[in-house]
Amino acid sequence: MASVGFIGVGTMGREMALNLLKAGHRVRLFDVRRDAAEGMRSAGAEVASSVADAVQHADVAITMLPDTSHVEEVVLGPDGILAHPPAGRVLIDMSTISPQATREMNGALARADVAMLDAPVSGGPQGAKNATLSIMVGGDAAALEKARPVLAAMGTTVVHMGGAGAGQVTKLCNQLVVGINLQGICEAIALGRAAGVDLDKLRDALLGGSAASWMMQHLAPKILARDADAGFRIDLMLKDLRLTGELAFALGTPLPGNALVTNLFLEARAHGEGANGNQALYRVYDRLCNQEG
Ligand code: NAD
Repeated sequence: MASVGFIGVGTMGREMALNLLKAGHRVRLFDVRRDAAEGMRSAGAEVASSVADAVQHADVAITMLPDTSHVEEVVLGPDGILAHPPAGRVLIDMSTISPQATREMNGALARADVAMLDAPVSGGPQGAKNATLSIMVGGDAAALEKARPVLAAMGTTVVHMGGAGAGQVTKLCNQLVVGINLQGICEAIALGRAAGVDLDKLRDALLGGSAASWMMQHLAPKILARDADAGFRIDLMLKDLRLTGELAFALGTPLPGNALVTNLFLEARAHGEGANGNQALYRVYDRLCNQEG
């Protein structure tokens, strides 16, 4: 069993850290929201007073933070992981962030003899809770073998995609599919509603055929119940689609679908919905179809 220094116990990190504890790993965690960390003492977690205090005696450090800037602060900052590396010299960043920034941090850490794996996840809060996440890994193969027992406590699919940043690239491809799929579902529901068909039956029929998907299974019921709660916040979805667009631009790869769905989510955020779940894209279609309420 490993000792793990875990940074960031929000929607996803909390459930992932709980699964590490359940699997018998020792977890020492830190979050800038002190109450979020304190709330996990009863499950057996130790609460650290800083990033350094959480990670420096650990076999493995894990970060599960919102965006690139947060990971850079935690890794490169004066109190961070580069200045206070884990004793086991492995960092697993499970956040979804920029592949380019990941490669730069990986290089800085490698020069200090610390291996960094980028290991973003898919499966949502439910997958985090059930330890069924899909984990997409970039970085050194030997470091992955060292980290595998820790990853196995959080997910059922662990795929080594290649060198530094390859996990993040894979996650951005995942988000492209997720965003466009969700748009298709919102559009189908808008059309079905305008035509007056039973929307629960519409979902059942589509789920039984080639329109079936994770989003249809898990988010269409929320859309039909007009439940906009997060889940996966629109702000985080926009961050992922922005990263996808930046990568595509840098590579000269046209992604018209990504541009369209990004703009629809921007419309949602402009209406004050950034903290709503990504399924609240249906509210954009409510506005487009003059069907609010
Ligand atoms: P979240 O905002 O709920 O949690 C992030 C946590 O990090 C918060 O508790 C916050 O206080 C903490 N934090 C921020 N800055 C910090 C710092 N400097 N030091 C310590 N703690 C800090 O986000 P989340 O939904 O758990 O998502 C985390 C990452 O996982 C994101 O990159 C997101 O895109 C990705 N992700 C989320 C989901 C989802 O469904 N929510 C699914 C897959 C991947």
